[in-house]
Amino acid sequence: MKKPPRIGVLAIQGDYAAHAAALAESGAIPIEVRTHEQLSDLDGLILPGGESTTMLKFLERGHLFDELRKFCSTRPVFGTCAGAILLAREVRNPAQRSLGLLDVVVERNAYGRQIDSSILFSESKLPGEKLEMVFIRAPRIVETGPDVEVLARRGGHPTLVRQGKLMAATFHPELTSDRRVHKAFVDLVKANLRPEADSAPQRD
Ligand code: GLN
Repeated sequence: MKKPPRIGVLAIQGDYAAHAAALAESGAIPIEVRTHEQLSDLDGLILPGGESTTMLKFLERGHLFDELRKFCSTRPVFGTCAGAILLAREVRNPAQRSLGLLDVVVERNAYGRQIDSSILFSESKLPGEKLEMVFIRAPRIVETGPDVEVLARRGGHPTLVRQGKLMAATFHPELTSDRRVHKAFVDLVKANLRPEADSAPQRD
């Protein structure tokens, strides 16, 4: 049997511990990532929710930004909320730097203030029941490029998207007990394992 994939969670700030727990429940080995050296042997990565401005400061100070961009342009990555903001092609309200890899435009804090955070259930393209979506000072995806597949929406706006090896959610799937979103990402990681990683168990 193949080894479970090793999936990093950027652990600078935000709710990375909840993502690590959700990954473990979804058949992956979670690794908390704080340095660029740790990226080298990962099969995938989650950029969690939190404050994207704070994460950016840390990424730029520690020279992690460029290494992270390299990783995210070749390996499967799932950005949630602030993590989706980091992945986006363009960020508004206000404009800020991003990795620029996911072909979406996001508006930060577009659904109101902290006190307006909300939980909604919506149809999605994932198998099964409606998807529970927890929004906390969430960004809104206001434009998507042609290669972006929309898996769920809030009103008319995408809340869960996929583009090649990248996934992004404007809500917090790690804060519910429904593991369908993390499992979809783990499946994406498994489908994109590098040949070395794939063959490693057979050499043991
Ligand atoms: N409002 C945060 C930001 O702009 C995102 C909030 C979240 O990740 N829950 O970065």
